[in-house]
Amino acid sequence: MKQTKYSAVVVGSGIAGLYAAIKLHKEVNLPNGLLIVTKSQLIESNSKYAQGGMVCVMPENKLDSCELHIEDTIKAGAGLTDAKVAEFISQKSAEVVKELQNIGVEFDKDENNELRFTKEAAHSVNRILHAGGDATGFCIENALVEYLMSQKNVRIYEETLAVELLKDSKNTNRGLITYNYRENEYEVIEAPAVIIATGGIGQLYKHTTNPDITTGDGIALAYRAGAVVKDMEFVQFHPTAFALGDNGVMFLISEAVRGEGAKLVDKKGNTFMKKYDKRLELAPRDVVTRAIFHEMQETNTKNVYLNATHINELKFEKRFPTIYGNCRKYNINPSENYIPVSPSAHYFMGGIKTKVDGTTSIKGLYAIGEAACTGLHGANRLASNSILECAVTAYELVNHLRNENLNDNYIQDEQITKIINSYKDELFINEQEDISNMFHTLKDIMWNKVGIIRNEKNLLEAKQAVEELKSQFGVTYKCTDRSSYEMRNMLTIAELIIEFALKRKESRGAHFREDFPKKDLIAESHQLSRNTIMKG
Ligand SMILES: Cc1cc2nc3c(=O)[nH]c(=O)nc-3n(C[C@H](O)[C@H](O)[C@H](O)COP(=O)(O)OP(=O)(O)OC[C@H]3O[C@@H](n4cnc5c(N)ncnc54)[C@H](O)[C@@H]3O)c2cc1C
Repeated sequence: MKQTKYSAVVVGSGIAGLYAAIKLHKEVNLPNGLLIVTKSQLIESNSKYAQGGMVCVMPENKLDSCELHIEDTIKAGAGLTDAKVAEFISQKSAEVVKELQNIGVEFDKDENNELRFTKEAAHSVNRILHAGGDATGFCIENALVEYLMSQKNVRIYEETLAVELLKDSKNTNRGLITYNYRENEYEVIEAPAVIIATGGIGQLYKHTTNPDITTGDGIALAYRAGAVVKDMEFVQFHPTAFALGDNGVMFLISEAVRGEGAKLVDKKGNTFMKKYDKRLELAPRDVVTRAIFHEMQETNTKNVYLNATHINELKFEKRFPTIYGNCRKYNINPSENYIPVSPSAHYFMGGIKTKVDGTTSIKGLYAIGEAACTGLHGANRLASNSILECAVTAYELVNHLRNENLNDNYIQDEQITKIINSYKDELFINEQEDISNMFHTLKDIMWNKVGIIRNEKNLLEAKQAVEELKSQFGVTYKCTDRSSYEMRNMLTIAELIIEFALKRKESRGAHFREDFPKKDLIAESHQLSRNTIMKG
């Protein structure tokens, strides 16, 4: 196997990974250079599909303040948000936005050349910056990619997966093993800093707004290496994903459309949110999601509708070009037709337990963005707080690494040698068809039994079914191809979500147990590592 050495390796090229890479390259001494490893093409990520925007508390936005933003974030987090983390991230928001603008990100401005702020559910004021109308993620990601491509001396491995972390017997991570699935090539990489920026887990569910890269790889890798993971029961289901066509990956109908006055209706055009919450369409995501889910069950239908016909076509197209374009592909004109919508897995609040600077429970291993759990989101994420968290954690990680020695890295260790040797073994052969079946079975289990409404019976059945899939899968290290590695990781994540969901015998934020419909008086986060009993 090829063996190489870098000062830092960033795994993942969404907003968190790219922003960290740019800053590392510009600001930190990296004697052995920087490598970015990414599973698909550089631009492919959850980040690319983000629509609504990025929270920013700017001094010139007189109606807003960090106090207000922190209050909204904590309220959404349903008792589990870490207030200090929320404060830190809010206070850093203006600074990271300025840096992003310097890198080339162009947020939308009004006719006076002032930044435009919009509002989404559960925000008390307009504080969300957007770009390209409803293409915020694409505009930021694209600007970061363009900037990075103009830089010299950054190695990029596309179509390459991180498949194993190299942690030594002293709990220090020394590097990783990568697998290029195009060339079928493995590489052992020594690096004193490995940064997991691999995003979320949406693909574990039958219906999701997330692209196919979101199989929880980095979280599974870190957990298997012994890192502490946190809040794994909290999966955010977005209420309004487009519900026609291929229902696997569903494009998002951003909350901002409801922010512009669109109403949720049944097929006859009757509104129903007043039955569920006085904040109506702009109630928090988990409330709207459960309301829609309930309506769908009551009426035995596959979706409800969004009535945005009060917005004229020109205005809709200008404000929401991505959504407009996607709807038109299905012959839906949002100014004339109701848009069919249903809930879909969207965002993962849990992940690798980190501080705001990305440090994990393993030295030399860092995590940022959606793969990390800083405690900002608690039990439920406030809309548009995640891109902000990606940027601030990347920013702080670089401040941390500035003071680390990124030169020496001694990989000689019995534990690491054992891991590397296991990758020299003969390949495990599994029929591709089996993996594809397992993939669909797992997504069904997670959607039906570990989804929007949970209970003990279903969770225990899911646990059993995942155990069976795991023994059918049978691989514990080297796999044959990309989808097998993804399957291996998804099984790890599924087990963790189920275990955490069973442990939380209450309903809080995005985690709803019909057998325990109330909140407990005591709010605490749960965490787990391979070597410990689950901690409350
Ligand atoms: C449709 C949609 C709309 C959204 N809208 C908003 C919004 O308006 N505002 C907001 O704040 N948030 C929004 N979000 C959430 C937000 O986009 C994500 O939380 C955020 O972009 C995550 O960024 P990231 O850098 O952590 O991960 P990602 O952007 O998901 O990037 C992960 C990267 O890791 C790579 N990767 C994964 N596994 C491996 C592996 N094993 N080896 C190597 N590379 C790997 C992937 O290929 C990818 O490059 C939205 C999400 C979606 C899906």
